[in-house]
Amino acid sequence: MPAFARGSKGDCELRRAFTTDGWFWVLISLGNAKIEGETAHPMIIETRAVEPFFKNGFVVGCEDTREGIVIDPGDEVDLLLEAVRRHDLTIRYILLTHAHLDHVTGVAAAKRALKVPVGLHSADNFLYDAVVQQGMMFGLRVEPQPAVDFFYDTSTGSGQAAIRFGQLGASALHTPGHCPGGVCLAVGRLDDTGRTLFVGDTLFAGSIGRTDLPGGDMDTLMRSIRGVLFGFPDDTVVYPGHGEPTVLKKEKDEFAAFSSRPHSQDLHGDVLWLKA
Ligand SMILES: [Zn+2]
Ligand SMILES: [Zn+2]
Repeated sequence: MPAFARGSKGDCELRRAFTTDGWFWVLISLGNAKIEGETAHPMIIETRAVEPFFKNGFVVGCEDTREGIVIDPGDEVDLLLEAVRRHDLTIRYILLTHAHLDHVTGVAAAKRALKVPVGLHSADNFLYDAVVQQGMMFGLRVEPQPAVDFFYDTSTGSGQAAIRFGQLGASALHTPGHCPGGVCLAVGRLDDTGRTLFVGDTLFAGSIGRTDLPGGDMDTLMRSIRGVLFGFPDDTVVYPGHGEPTVLKKEKDEFAAFSSRPHSQDLHGDVLWLKA
């Protein structure tokens, strides 16, 4: 039986967040943000985000076996580790949706605590290796991160989970555009086709990530969204790298509205579907 997660705006708070363009206001999760929609399978999903980037880090766990994964540990890594302990999870992997600064600054601390392999798409390794320099761009001191342990095999398709934890599996689907090695992590039960998507900065609720950073490309991002993400069923729940979770049907509808209007050729992501 699919489970339904109910929305609760009481779990959210409006905060100022920092991006390379400056400060903006964002609704952030204060705990286990859930939205109305059909989840592929009851699973533990804990979201944490802290300043300055309010990037979402996730703990995902199998309720049957208490095995889990950590996705994109950043500056909120201590809160993620606390959630791991609270749920009594045995973490099997640290998985990265991409290697922008805000998504990787907690990898070293997470690996020290959890002692598990770190996965990334090979096309983002140049960004990962340059995390200290990425920090300098923002005036931030960032510690070097441990080397990645494995690169994703993105040839398995959406139906097969290459990475297993308990009764759950994650497959990494290549979704370049925001950066060259961006992936969508499709997580679900091994014996079920339903998936919950962790999409990094490829897609946000009502918006998309920027494409003007090194290796970014707007047309490529559009192809990833249409060709990979929108191939999942309408009721698929999506957890973006920033802001609130969403349901794919809503994003498909808003994207259709966006696509029906003419746009200038020099758009570089970072647009709201309904306003651009
Ligand atoms: Zn990013
Ligand atoms: Zn980000």
